[in-house]
Amino acid sequence: MAVERTLSIIKPDATRRNLTGKIVAKFEDAGLRIVASRRIRLSKGQAEAFYGVHRERPFFKSLVEFMTSGPVVVQVLEGENAIAKNREVMGATNPANAAPGTIRKDFAESIEANSVHGSDAAETAANEIHFFFSDLDIHS
Ligand code: GDP
Repeated sequence: MAVERTLSIIKPDATRRNLTGKIVAKFEDAGLRIVASRRIRLSKGQAEAFYGVHRERPFFKSLVEFMTSGPVVVQVLEGENAIAKNREVMGATNPANAAPGTIRKDFAESIEANSVHGSDAAETAANEIHFFFSDLDIHS
């Protein structure tokens, strides 16, 4: 297994409920290291660009409204097999289907307000990390 980096976003439903620390603890307990972190408020244009792949989906407009409804915490997570491990810690997109102990099972409000984003593959991870961070911002 290789050491990888992946992009995580703690979404507005979670920052609103003051869950940032509890979510970060789940990443760290799983062996993922926070190597960059910033709390920001996404603009409409940034949210549309970040979720561009979903532009044609019926929930796109609602997703952009949700992601711009409050602050988010964007982070780079690093570790062995970090992309898949983060997805495992996050749980299924719909919290109704998420495994016990996962972030989405414990904290998500709905299929949309599901507390966290995580990159789904190596290429998307690299693109998503550079959407928010320069290499100078990342410290292992
Ligand atoms: P993820 O990789 O598990 O985050 O899931 P997707 O890439 O399929 O979807 C991206 C995000 O869009 C999800 O995390 C949700 O916030 C939102 N989303 C996905 N499916 C739905 C849906 O059916 N309805 C709504 N309202 N939002 C959705």
